[in-house]
Amino acid sequence: MLEFVIMRSFIKRYDHFGKNMLQAHRHQQILSRLQENGIVHIHELSQDFAVSEMTIHRDLDQLETEGRLRKVRGGAIPVPAPTPVQGEVCFMCHTTPRSQTQMTLHMSNGSVQRACCPHCGLHGMAMMGDQVVSALASDFLRGNAVTAQAATYVVQPDVTICCTPTVLAFQDVEDAKRFQHGFGGEVLNFTKTMQYLNEAMHLSTNHHEEH
Ligand SMILES: [Zn+2]
Ligand SMILES: [Zn+2]
Repeated sequence: MLEFVIMRSFIKRYDHFGKNMLQAHRHQQILSRLQENGIVHIHELSQDFAVSEMTIHRDLDQLETEGRLRKVRGGAIPVPAPTPVQGEVCFMCHTTPRSQTQMTLHMSNGSVQRACCPHCGLHGMAMMGDQVVSALASDFLRGNAVTAQAATYVVQPDVTICCTPTVLAFQDVEDAKRFQHGFGGEVLNFTKTMQYLNEAMHLSTNHHEEH
């Protein structure tokens, strides 16, 4: 009887060890997918690793506690990279730009204005009109620079990344659509996004005037 108890506790411990190994492996895989794709979906992960969605939830919870990702509805996104350029703040709202959302506006006087995200960057472009010679947005998934006019934007998704209404830039329309699929919002081109922000701005201005 005693041997049986010892044996069982040994098996339990061994089993626990095995589970930890599998969990550590899953965590690694989740993080490397996040790096590759910019998003992970709980549903897909649960299918690919053949574990319950609850298990994936717990994995993401733990990784979030460790500060390695950020949970959003139905999945997770990378933690935004902090402070890319020291001492530089958004020329519109004075928050510190993040490498994955920042925009740079190149002005006719040769200066460069940095914005925290397309929300501020596009507002700035609308405000300064012809003074803006060119504008670059950062692809939200990959962080590379893309011409603002050529980018595709996801407007007002369910996640808040920087300023609201949230506007995120993507180089690839398909990436924008994939992001929209997971996190909602509208996929718009440059012109439509400018119109959208313009209307949102007028609405908030009118709102202020009423008070
Ligand atoms: Zn800003
Ligand atoms: Zn912002």
